[in-house]
Amino acid sequence: MKNSFFFLLAVVALGACQPTGPGVSDEAIVILNAHVVDVMSGNVEREKAILIDSGRIVSIGDGSELSALVGRKDVFDAGGRYVIPGLWDMHVHIEGEDLVEDNRALLPLYVAYGITTVRDCASDLGELVLAWRDSINNDQLFGPQIFTAGRKLEGINSIWKGDLEIANKEELQQMLDKLDAYNVDFVKITENTLPGDLFLTSVKEAKKRGYKVTGHVPYDLSVEELATAGFSAIEHASYMLRLGSDDSAIVDSIRSGKLARTDAGALYNSTFNQDTAFAGYKMLARQGVAVTPTLIGGKQLAYLDENDHQNDDYLKYLTTRFTSKYQWRIDRMAGETSEQNQARKDRYQLIAEQLPYLHKAGVTILAGSDAAALNTFVYPAQSLHEELVLFQEAGLEPLAILQTATVNGAKFFNVQDNLGSIAPGMQADLVILNSNPLEDISATQDIFAVVNDGEYLSREKLDELLRQAQVIKDKLDK
Ligand SMILES: [Zn+2]
Repeated sequence: MKNSFFFLLAVVALGACQPTGPGVSDEAIVILNAHVVDVMSGNVEREKAILIDSGRIVSIGDGSELSALVGRKDVFDAGGRYVIPGLWDMHVHIEGEDLVEDNRALLPLYVAYGITTVRDCASDLGELVLAWRDSINNDQLFGPQIFTAGRKLEGINSIWKGDLEIANKEELQQMLDKLDAYNVDFVKITENTLPGDLFLTSVKEAKKRGYKVTGHVPYDLSVEELATAGFSAIEHASYMLRLGSDDSAIVDSIRSGKLARTDAGALYNSTFNQDTAFAGYKMLARQGVAVTPTLIGGKQLAYLDENDHQNDDYLKYLTTRFTSKYQWRIDRMAGETSEQNQARKDRYQLIAEQLPYLHKAGVTILAGSDAAALNTFVYPAQSLHEELVLFQEAGLEPLAILQTATVNGAKFFNVQDNLGSIAPGMQADLVILNSNPLEDISATQDIFAVVNDGEYLSREKLDELLRQAQVIKDKLDK
């Protein structure tokens, strides 16, 4: 089990353990009257009981039978509410060398928002995030289960802080040795200063070592070249628009120097064709390349002129130091003309419109917020729920959306036998919702309770986690 935040309180309150049935430990609990959502099929098993013991789902069955196995205090009535697997945010950055305490305070918020697993897509706090991952797994820290890339690969002098910068194949191998030693969960690569050929070699070499490899798409590599090299996932759906043009011809012009990188975006925009893009998505599906759209960040920036975030409720959890990092993107956008702003909005809409096409082509979509101090108004935990609503607005069905935030993440890491769905033997990460998420995905925002690694957290306890996060923020701000 991960750390039980309320364990000490519970021991004090109860004094002694209740009698328990055969084969069941004193950690066992039963959830009654649950409508269990099968995220694979979309079927709902109504009025079921779920027996959970030592962090695992033991069985799903009859309420009176299962509740007889545990003491009365360990039976929780879901009251005919909907139970889904714990949510996954497949793209966050726990980052900022001066934001260690600030980030640590945000970990419980993920759980309070029903997010029991996050994928950290690399940061300047790489080693610390790895340590937090292990502490959470060892019950020493309370938070969501973390999968992390540690630090990402880049070229020399990239704009991002804390990258593993490489100039040649020897340095690539040294950095991969480093990532091996870190025991990272996957490898992330970005393209700020990393040349396309070394980027492609990095993908191949990381794959050889058995890693999933994800990241951005450089201007001097085609999406198809990356897919063929075994890229596991493309981060950000903005890169999908390249598949609507003659991507390899444009990449060739960039490589030969006929086209400047700064002009490539406009060319991709002006030559975008939806049918061409759809054929490209089928290619991605064939190659098994997943996509993490991360719509919410682009949306927040494109609509900054219409939305005043000063009174956002979530700001009560974020330190002034944390939100001060938002300014760079706001400043960068301040010089935009109204035409440029409209173009940004149009581009956002076109990117969002690609989601149903990606889904129809059979591409695996991973829900990820890109929540990070550097990503303006992309609030940790809350933004995943906003991302899911954007998926729905873009035309994805609620079941497909639920999959992007549960089982798809588990399949990405090849841990679907352990995580991402509700069945006997699975890790007990669950969210109990007040309404049916298969009808409207915004139901994920109306949480009745969370089970985090076998620990039942009632609404009252979740609210206590939220209150504590606020207290820490106020303290850190002083
Ligand atoms: Zn990111």
